[in-house]
Amino acid sequence: MLNIEIHMLNQANAMLLRRNIFALFSDTTYINEIVVSVFLTDCEDKDGKQHPFLRIITDCQKNISEITNRLATLSIDLERAKLDCFIPKKVATAEQKKSLPAICTADNKLKVTTIIAINSAKPQFGKEPFKIQYQDHQIIGTPYTGERKHDISTSNDVFIEYSALTPFVEKLLATGASFITKTGIHSEVYVLEWTIRKTEKMLKETWLAGTVQGSFHDECADCDNANTTYSHQGILIPVNDKSAKFCSTCFQLRIDDFKAGKPPRPLRTKA
Ligand SMILES: [Zn+2]
Repeated sequence: MLNIEIHMLNQANAMLLRRNIFALFSDTTYINEIVVSVFLTDCEDKDGKQHPFLRIITDCQKNISEITNRLATLSIDLERAKLDCFIPKKVATAEQKKSLPAICTADNKLKVTTIIAINSAKPQFGKEPFKIQYQDHQIIGTPYTGERKHDISTSNDVFIEYSALTPFVEKLLATGASFITKTGIHSEVYVLEWTIRKTEKMLKETWLAGTVQGSFHDECADCDNANTTYSHQGILIPVNDKSAKFCSTCFQLRIDDFKAGKPPRPLRTKA
């Protein structure tokens, strides 16, 4: 890997120089190993004169003299630095992608924000949505293909300046309002919707409160079935109906309604 860094203040000139550098090495066998990075560096002497320069960084010394000689023709100061090592990024295999952990735990808002910031490109690796366990809630990131515009975006893989996410995370936790993140550029763009829901365990605790299981002599409050096994005086029935007995089928239907966020139906009505 050979990285040629352009350090100069003028971006247009830097872009032009980058093109010239690639042209300069187009006939070499190592052209594919070259990357040219542009830094808008403000390098100035005591008189305020700018000193643009190229920094050559490589972990391979094989062609270094030739590289230096070629770059010297560009009439710009050169710095040569020896790179200790270059570790190319690993591309996750399908198997590794599947085994990525799909759930993280966070105990405070900052941690939730950080996890979203660094995982905003990850959920599509696996088939499962990405989940964050937060107190008795789960925050879920799922690929989004709908009409809504993203709320916050970055051209990086992750949100480096993740404090920008904070207001969205705070609103999500306070009001349940979902938000959409967009990361990356070109072909590697990830758009995710972040939503929040109570965990299954919490939901169960909610409807279990005020429920007694047994064998009762009353008819089902919804369907007249004589075989009632649940006596309930809680969240699954309207507040005015103090208690009701249900057969197992009707009781399950009311649990399903509750999980779907519907208000409790009046008694003697079917789902
Ligand atoms: Zn019933």
